[in-house]
Amino acid sequence: MAATAAPDLAIGGVTVHRVIDMDPFVLPLNFILPQAERAVLDAERALLKDHVDFDANTILLAVQSHLVRAGGITILVDTCVGEMKPRPRRSEWDRRAASGYIARLAAAGCRPEDVDVVLCTHLHVDHVGWNTQLRDGRWVPTFPKARYLMGRADLDHWTAEAARDPAVNHGSFADSVLPVIESGQADRVDPGHVVADGASILPLPGHTPGQVGLDVETASGTRLVVCGDAIHTPVQVLRPEWSSGFCSDPTQAAATRRGLLERAASDDVVLIPAHLRAPGMRVRRPGGQFRPVFCGCDGAAQD
Ligand SMILES: [Zn+2]
Repeated sequence: MAATAAPDLAIGGVTVHRVIDMDPFVLPLNFILPQAERAVLDAERALLKDHVDFDANTILLAVQSHLVRAGGITILVDTCVGEMKPRPRRSEWDRRAASGYIARLAAAGCRPEDVDVVLCTHLHVDHVGWNTQLRDGRWVPTFPKARYLMGRADLDHWTAEAARDPAVNHGSFADSVLPVIESGQADRVDPGHVVADGASILPLPGHTPGQVGLDVETASGTRLVVCGDAIHTPVQVLRPEWSSGFCSDPTQAAATRRGLLERAASDDVVLIPAHLRAPGMRVRRPGGQFRPVFCGCDGAAQD
């Protein structure tokens, strides 16, 4: 058996592996951040070099899961794009195959049956894909022994949206959420729900109505927050008011992001945004302005 890859973060008995589904995932700057001003990015070329293609004027994201081992259990946060899903409106996602995702999960020492909990921070198409896979013409849960946690408010919202228009959110509700509910493996959770010893559900509304994160306390006292799309890119640490073009309530999303950044700066929390092309980041506030500082695998800020 191949050696298990070292975790991307290992802090106080908690480990996190990034499991890549697609990297980079490239979006035009003003498509993802309609309010973005290029001059703000240009002033931070060194800081943002892995997160912005300055020549192409695009934002670079990873579509990935975070495999968190905490409190004695294995938690997979967000499940990316998946395979074989009909996504005609985005060709790079449409019925894709041979992504290598399950092999990369194995490299992190995890088989699908080893996942205890799948947490969907929200139910956007690029966060639910590997919830299910195609078996004998049917969509079945990829993680056979897992409980799948979904924020109650998000599930209520997307259930209503999909009933109104099945094509909404690239049609992902029918192939990536509904089969999990029908298998009996889905749990609706509310903020404060305890996922494991030291790990609980954090409300992060605005990007979607019921987005949640995973708030993890480690034995060393450092906290980690896996924060979904509350932050898409470190650019938004520099300008928290720039919500994405995909946010259901951009004003609320910005308020949630600012609150998260204030907490991270004051309590030295390690933030793990879903699409971050780095293990994690801490937040500094020199002169009152937020700045991201990327972390090494021990979680130490690389200032
Ligand atoms: Zn999203």
